[in-house]
Amino acid sequence: MTSFPNAYLEQAHHHGFRNKGELAHSLVCVCIYCKDTFAFSDIDWWVNDRPGPGSGEPAGSPFVETETAVCPNCHVDLVIGDASGLPVTDKAFVDAIHERWFS
Ligand SMILES: [Zn+2]
Repeated sequence: MTSFPNAYLEQAHHHGFRNKGELAHSLVCVCIYCKDTFAFSDIDWWVNDRPGPGSGEPAGSPFVETETAVCPNCHVDLVIGDASGLPVTDKAFVDAIHERWFS
């Protein structure tokens, strides 16, 4: 049914979290839930996903990205940008990752 292996989709899923820096360099962002596409500048809501204890990342490090984008359309926090290198404008890809996480 899908031509995308599970491991690939799980890898892609990581790009949906703590991704402000990556989205800032993206021309197109896509919401995996509602499949809407929009620009970085359309995102006006971010949630803070701080690294938890045991994550191996120093607390408060300015180099650790903590902000996760929330979709301006449906308010689900699984947005991926094209700077991830993922085929975010490929409908088959978006359908596959949506299936993997929301069905
Ligand atoms: Zn959405």
